[in-house]
Amino acid sequence: MRCPNCQCKDLGKIGVEQYYCWGCFIELAVVEGKLALNQVEEDGSLTSLDDLFEDDDLSIPM
Ligand SMILES: [Zn+2]
Repeated sequence: MRCPNCQCKDLGKIGVEQYYCWGCFIELAVVEGKLALNQVEEDGSLTSLDDLFEDDDLSIPM
């Protein structure tokens, strides 16, 4: 699995079906078989990045 944002494979697991990309510092969560991307803001809140990607980019290769 690689990050759809920066194509980096350096993903750290931070929870159940939750990953963190060390390449571009976003959080990736697996939701209903697709990736949900969130940017972690300085105050710890999350901003969804899903709008920036096509469905194909967020599907998880099996
Ligand atoms: Zn990334």
